[in-house]
Amino acid sequence: RKALGPRPVEGAMYTFVRPETVERSELLDVSPKAMEDLGLSCKEKDTPEFKAMVVGNKIFWTEENGGIYPWAQCYGGWQFGSWAGQLGDGRAISLFECINQNTKCRYELQLKGAGRTPYSRFGDGKAVLRSSIREYIVSEALHAIGVPTTRALSLTLLPDAKVVRERIEPGAIVARFAETWLRIGSFDILHARGDRDLIRKLATFIAEDVFPGWHSLPATLSSGPEGSFGDVVDPPLGVPPNKTQGGEGAEENRFSRLYREIVRRNAKTVAAWQAYGFMNGVLNTDNTSIYGLSLDYGPFAFMDNFDPQYTPNHDDHHLRYSYKNQPSIVWWNLVRLGESLGELIGAGKKVDDKNFVTRGVTEEDAPALIKRAEAIINKTREEYQSVFLSEYKRLMSERLGLKTQKESDFQNVSSELLDTLEALELDFNHFFRRLSEVSLSDIESEDQRRSVAHIFFHGDGIGGIGNTIDSAEMRIGNWLHEWGKRILEDWGTQGNEERQKCMKAVNPKFVPRSWILDEVIERVEKKGDREILGRVMHMALNPFNDEWDLNNRQEEERFCGDVPRLKRAMTCSCSS
Ligand code: AMP
Ligand code: MG
Ligand code: MG
Repeated sequence: RKALGPRPVEGAMYTFVRPETVERSELLDVSPKAMEDLGLSCKEKDTPEFKAMVVGNKIFWTEENGGIYPWAQCYGGWQFGSWAGQLGDGRAISLFECINQNTKCRYELQLKGAGRTPYSRFGDGKAVLRSSIREYIVSEALHAIGVPTTRALSLTLLPDAKVVRERIEPGAIVARFAETWLRIGSFDILHARGDRDLIRKLATFIAEDVFPGWHSLPATLSSGPEGSFGDVVDPPLGVPPNKTQGGEGAEENRFSRLYREIVRRNAKTVAAWQAYGFMNGVLNTDNTSIYGLSLDYGPFAFMDNFDPQYTPNHDDHHLRYSYKNQPSIVWWNLVRLGESLGELIGAGKKVDDKNFVTRGVTEEDAPALIKRAEAIINKTREEYQSVFLSEYKRLMSERLGLKTQKESDFQNVSSELLDTLEALELDFNHFFRRLSEVSLSDIESEDQRRSVAHIFFHGDGIGGIGNTIDSAEMRIGNWLHEWGKRILEDWGTQGNEERQKCMKAVNPKFVPRSWILDEVIERVEKKGDREILGRVMHMALNPFNDEWDLNNRQEEERFCGDVPRLKRAMTCSCSS
């Protein structure tokens, strides 16, 4: 159990491992929405069984009756562009899978910070309270905003755990859940080991068990930019790889469709990150979900002032994981996945219903096969771009209150807005919420528009070199003029109230920025405040509300207001 470094695993993807027994613990908070989604009643959180489960003291296996024994996953990863070798769940242990009988959704419940596993390498298997609070609140907040993500059920403090990081810190366990915890790194490790059988098994498992089945995967790519998504028939297969074929028009098979499904999901999720100004902060392949979930809450952040260069990761000197790079980095990761699946997506010959020729590829066939895989990856790249762009435009149009999309919107409305926010150093998410409240009758004349512009300014004005209040009023005023024309087109003169309602339903008033998380951490850790967690979680779970009835209006408004100047665009180190 000493830190012996990596323990290489072969022929397997996980190891059974029991969470460390916890003597003393304090359940700090539970997400009511998570309870509901798991099909648990809120009362259950007060039972000793629940409290024992969420720290790993109760497992669902006994020597007499069997059951499910907890496990940790093995995976690898490309970190900051380099192959990092075997990683794995170093401090996460999964307890079981469960199905909500009402929704039929299946989730894997996992504890983070529950002790060492065979994949802990040099780590202690623990998580500090600070990073646990961040994950607990923000994964639930993203879900409430509508961004695909892993979820959080509970946060428990371990008062006796003294976790050594830059200083000695309290430890905690987050119980979290997801449709799957599999990631691109799960394939990376198998690819690195050359374990072709297990790659095929894992891909098949994902298609059949994680997704609803092969039939649910996207249909063969048509010539259209979106691909035909309607009928789901298995594409024609019986074309063996041969030397003349391979470039254009490579045949798809089940596995290439699985690849495309994973690609499409990630394209949509990154589009949502961009539309809501969320940055993961460490987009390594081990943190890129095969289900398209936001995964791994480390040095993430929501955007404060709009700045495409911003990376929340203190150690990301090359801005690899900055806002503007997220779409291309996720694609980079997806190419790694394509390479791992290469042999499967390159093969076209069907032997029978279950088997495809991918084993025992002859040396003669291999080059053609690789060429076909490359062709499919390249083709999928276009699909990634078009799915990303259409989802991004859809979300931005929604956020801007537009019912229709015109070719010119992207330039005149969307891009011009982002340029303006960047130039004037204005808050990204506040802008959309405040815009939701603007009525067309408020912005009819230039004078009106100039005065409305002030609602987007910070308490201390605007930023950016060479900008004056006058030029800022002018620029935002002009933008409001363009925007107003489009709103009038889409909603007419009578649609004001309805449009405002629609906009508020997609533009969160509360977004858990880094400064708020820091305040929560400080209050929980140093001041023993427990109530703050429940209040902030309530806001995070209902981000579109105007108010929250928490008997603390002043705090609510403060958390939705201007980000204090010195706390904007904070960065976070990876140590957690
Ligand atoms: P991350 O940067 O969070 O993606 O983590 C990279 C790898 O390091 C994962 O395999 C983690 O499980 C592992 N890891 C990070 N912190 C610890 C820790 N305190 N103890 C054990 N493993 C850890
Ligand atoms: Mg990770
Ligand atoms: Mg992490």
